[in-house]
Amino acid sequence: MLDPQPARVRFAPSPTGRFHIGGARTALYDFLLARQTGGQFILRIEDTDRKRFVPSAEDEIIESLHWLGLDWDEGPDIGGPYSPYRQSERTDIYRQHAEELVAHGHGYYCFCTPERLSQVRQRQQKLKQPPRYDGLCRKLDIEEARGRIADGESYVIRFKTPREGSTAAVDLLRGPITVENSSLDDYILLKSDGLPVYHLAAMVDDYLMEITHVFRGSEWLPTFPLHVLIYEALNWKQPIWVHLSIFLNPSGKGKMSKRDAGVREIYVLDLKQMGYLPEGLLNWIALMGWSYDDHTEFFTLEDLIEKFSLQKLHPSPAAVDYKKLDHFNGNHIRSLTTSELVDQLRPHFEREGLIVNEEILQEITPLVQERIRTLEEAVEIAGFFFREAPEPEPSELVGKKMTIDESIEAIRRSSEVVESFTTLDVESLEEALRALAEDLGLKAGQLFGILRIAVTGQRISTPLIESMVVIGKEEVLNRIAHALEKLESYTGAT
Ligand code: GLU
Repeated sequence: MLDPQPARVRFAPSPTGRFHIGGARTALYDFLLARQTGGQFILRIEDTDRKRFVPSAEDEIIESLHWLGLDWDEGPDIGGPYSPYRQSERTDIYRQHAEELVAHGHGYYCFCTPERLSQVRQRQQKLKQPPRYDGLCRKLDIEEARGRIADGESYVIRFKTPREGSTAAVDLLRGPITVENSSLDDYILLKSDGLPVYHLAAMVDDYLMEITHVFRGSEWLPTFPLHVLIYEALNWKQPIWVHLSIFLNPSGKGKMSKRDAGVREIYVLDLKQMGYLPEGLLNWIALMGWSYDDHTEFFTLEDLIEKFSLQKLHPSPAAVDYKKLDHFNGNHIRSLTTSELVDQLRPHFEREGLIVNEEILQEITPLVQERIRTLEEAVEIAGFFFREAPEPEPSELVGKKMTIDESIEAIRRSSEVVESFTTLDVESLEEALRALAEDLGLKAGQLFGILRIAVTGQRISTPLIESMVVIGKEEVLNRIAHALEKLESYTGAT
């Protein structure tokens, strides 16, 4: 369903660490709404917290979003009509608005030192009161305060939260959230270094950048009433607020945290390295907080643009389920054309240090396509195509429930079968080897197990017969001969 108004949505990450799937989901929903409504998707970097600033983080955000295919219309790298899009370059704007709040009686200068604030906190702790600013500077005469500033005293600007009444903050997924104003603090908006905190900077920017929908994490729910109060104090029309569901760790018990990384990664670029496709990842995160119906699970980015709807977002916590990720990713791998998959696979083989033969890569791609859930799995099952001939352990060449002599016989006879072909083809080779197994009184699996080790050096590989055809008669015979030699000099001692 088309939302009638073109939406202006922003993704506003803080460059304080690595870019994870929570951020990617927010960016995805932003992107979908913008594209669906013919609006704009804006990237804004919220970098005013200099203590937590990580220099490489912005690059990682940009690289991850590009890889996911979530391209923005305005942002720090490409500019736009509301430039600049990096908050550290907009500090004068925040200061002006903080001063405006003071001028209109919605903010005040506070000169309390860290020592005093810590004494206040200790006293409150003793009295079992919630930690909160005690309002000492709230009563200061404005002219006196300006005089102290002129004298060079250090200060912050706080929000003058109303002491009476209540505030209803309306979240699209949760309805109105009403709090007593007396339970809210006089939050700092502008710090003593002159830089704004999130509460001021994000509100000012969302307003000035004409943001229509704010998608953000539910960690902002506790301070949501403050944000509404700031909008009201400045007489601004609020955007539609959407606080997205939290992620639960894979066990479903407890909130997903950075400590859960390592079990399986939560960082987008690590998931890329692990062989997930952007399509698979997007499909997975799209469904952590949104659903289309109760059965459709395959979505391309185009599908998502068409089908996404605010009505179907839900606030219930989403478990981070890596089995689902594998499943979605496998589906997306299968939906690629051979040449698309070839291009996706190549770097994964090369990263292993393998020299990729293009012709072979083309031939084996359809063989892996049906079997893998991640691109890395292709390296596991098909890496041998680009390695030297295998050197299997003799013990591995002994077939299941077979003696060494029976295994030797099986290999020798297989060699004769292969020898009898002019060129190998899948159907006849398979038929001939199955007939041989029967003749030897073996199950096909027993014979194929030995040959798989002899030819690929691996227990798990691309399908054996197809792999033998790709490797070619001559090389298959070499490998079988080599295996035979090994087994003939093997006594069974380990
Ligand atoms: N910079 C904030 C964060 O990274 C953005 C929250 C928001 O989207 O408003 O959490």
